[in-house]
Amino acid sequence: MTRLPAPTRLDPVRTRWEPAMRLALAEAALAPATGDVPVGALVLAPDGAIIGRGHNEREAVGDPTAHAEILAIREAAKVVGEWRLSGCTLVVTLEPCTMCAGAIVLSRLDRVVYGALEPKTGAAGSLWDVIRDRRLNHRPEVVSEVLAADCTTQLHAFFDGHRE
Ligand SMILES: [Zn+2]
Repeated sequence: MTRLPAPTRLDPVRTRWEPAMRLALAEAALAPATGDVPVGALVLAPDGAIIGRGHNEREAVGDPTAHAEILAIREAAKVVGEWRLSGCTLVVTLEPCTMCAGAIVLSRLDRVVYGALEPKTGAAGSLWDVIRDRRLNHRPEVVSEVLAADCTTQLHAFFDGHRE
């Protein structure tokens, strides 16, 4: 299957999430201060309020599970007061890995919106599709490649900086 680049105009499904994705990009920009790959995530309540945010802190705290999505989901669950995040949306700058896809399903989020595709490890449509696996009872909606070019550029800038 040939993938066409996602249009950023005349695309109501994706355009709706662009403001939230810009905030997730700003959250991701905090990660490189600790040598972490810039990935940022937000959890939005059903009314659109931000109830969780996180950026990759794997290097910062020496924890292999400290991915942006996990941190944002934990914060949101604290705010909501329970583990179910029904009605909520997770917005993340990079396609989730298998661990985060699992956490997304378990937290009963309604929707996942992500930016850059991750062909090597992505579990939301690229390498696997854990989130929309038909064998699961709960399958969140997935909106992929929102501001994908901006998200990819942020990641490339980080890795280019490391090579120099
Ligand atoms: Zn992850």
